[in-house]
Amino acid sequence: MSRILEAKPVIQNLKADLLQDIKSLKDRGQVPSIGLIRVGNRPDDVYYENSIVKNCENMGIRPQKFTLEENISMPDFIKLLRQVNADPGIHGIMIFRPLPQQLDEELLKHIIDPAKDIDCMSPLNQARIFAGDMSGLLPCTPAAVMEILKYYKIELQGAKAVVVGRSMVVGKPLSMMLLKENATVTICHSKTQNMPDICKNADILVAAIGKPKFIDAKYVSPQSIVIDVGINDAGDGKMCGDVDFQAVAEQVQAITPVPGGVGSITTTLLLKNVVKAINLQKDQRV
Ligand code: NAP
Repeated sequence: MSRILEAKPVIQNLKADLLQDIKSLKDRGQVPSIGLIRVGNRPDDVYYENSIVKNCENMGIRPQKFTLEENISMPDFIKLLRQVNADPGIHGIMIFRPLPQQLDEELLKHIIDPAKDIDCMSPLNQARIFAGDMSGLLPCTPAAVMEILKYYKIELQGAKAVVVGRSMVVGKPLSMMLLKENATVTICHSKTQNMPDICKNADILVAAIGKPKFIDAKYVSPQSIVIDVGINDAGDGKMCGDVDFQAVAEQVQAITPVPGGVGSITTTLLLKNVVKAINLQKDQRV
């Protein structure tokens, strides 16, 4: 029987530490606050926003919502973003993406204050990760993978890690984080040849592809520790990962489930970034 790497105890652990950090800030008269900028009413964004707000309330973080019209112009959006950047009462900023077409995300990445950029969209925060400096604001999904590996004491030094997917949101930053921990990292993508052989040879296999149940038994071996980053609509009203859990679970050493795996940790890490942002702002590290 493979080991199922559930997120629940990882989240409990993270929340216990975070509550302690928030209490210390409050003892010093500071209430952490997050600015949530949402354009329009995309159901995914509304669902994610509600989940963040609920978590904020449970943890003692003050959410401030900025809900903007779907057709807001770029100058008006920039004006609002600059106001939130400058507001000393807001410590972290989350912009729900993708944004409507008229808003140029590439430009906005350069305008968000890197010291408040808790979703790690600023090129400055991304560059730090690629320079091997993990002390700044880390993107939540790759950080969630690292938290699972850490919690379950999976040895990374010298391990062969294969990451399938090279997006700037998941695959690339995660590869840098694994490299920092001295794993030997291989990145696969849509043009990779012989992918089953490469994946089979991995100690740690991470799937961040965006294709439901793509990774099946031919990609794994009994030594594989499989981390599934995927969040897909399974078509039957349920959610599934990029790994075919049924086909793979009995063939590997350990595996994360979907739901109840990587995706469920990200909101807690977003809130952790708010506290980290406060400390970085104090140290003027960003
Ligand atoms: P993405 O931007 O679409 O990138 C997908 C990557 O997979 C690309 O690098 C692509 O290669 C690669 N790929 C696609 N088809 C492939 C194939 N047949 N063989 C090998 N590689 C292939 O997706 P993403 O944003 O990184 O997200 C990946 C998954 O993680 C999705 O399921 C998404 O829903 C999930 N996700 C979860 C969270 C969360 O937990 N909160 C957050 C973000 C994403 P090329 O570069 O060659 O095109």
